[in-house]
Amino acid sequence: MGGTFNPVHTGHLRVAEEVRETLRLEKVIFVPAGNPPLKAGSGLAPARKRLDMVRLAVADNPFFEVSDLECSKSGPSYTVGTLERLSDAYPGKKLFFITGIDVFLDLHLWWRPERLIELADFVVVSRPGYLFAGILASPFVFKGKNLAKKKKELAAFDEAGKAGKTVSLKLASGRGLHLLRVTGLEISARHIRALLKEGRSARYLLPEHVLSFIIQNKIKF
Ligand code: ATP
Ligand code: MG
Repeated sequence: MGGTFNPVHTGHLRVAEEVRETLRLEKVIFVPAGNPPLKAGSGLAPARKRLDMVRLAVADNPFFEVSDLECSKSGPSYTVGTLERLSDAYPGKKLFFITGIDVFLDLHLWWRPERLIELADFVVVSRPGYLFAGILASPFVFKGKNLAKKKKELAAFDEAGKAGKTVSLKLASGRGLHLLRVTGLEISARHIRALLKEGRSARYLLPEHVLSFIIQNKIKF
């Protein structure tokens, strides 16, 4: 699961937990982005601090790990490179790349997306404010026959799908695309940063330890 984690919050943790349980994954590896090209200059805390916060957040979950593959590099790092390195590090294991639907809909902006979708199955989770229906317009989704039926299925999934429900599609690469409805948590790092800037409370939106770390280290977003 990649992200800027600026800062990590309860939305990220709950997504990881629900994906792990539903797809019976052995573990979830959080990979905070070092210097994400798409987020340059938007109040990004130092990579080292974001990494420390993710470590604090997952410390008590035996299924969660943190990788410094991207944060320990200077200069930009791309998910393609990260997935290639993870495949080498875990030979014989099946990799799943976990993203929210908001991120998947922007995949065309990423570095070499056609390669990216060859390197892992994708797990795309719901997020308040975004619909799965738009996913069929993505060039990275395999359309096949029965497009009209798939459209209907996704519309129903958006409307009435409950947390834990999945829809299986294929990526254009032939790898799996697993859509998962998760508990809707309207939490974003952007909102947390805005609250903190205004001196308002962000309690319960992120782990207590992470909030204390932000205050103690005087992290400015
Ligand atoms: P920002 O507001 O800075 O973009 P964010 O809350 O979106 O922060 P990211 O680090 O950008 O957090 O997200 C990492 C991954 O987690 C992305 O794939 C994103 O879609 C997903 N994600 C984050 N928050 C949620 C949430 N509340 N529900 C579902 N998915 C989420
Ligand atoms: Mg985001």
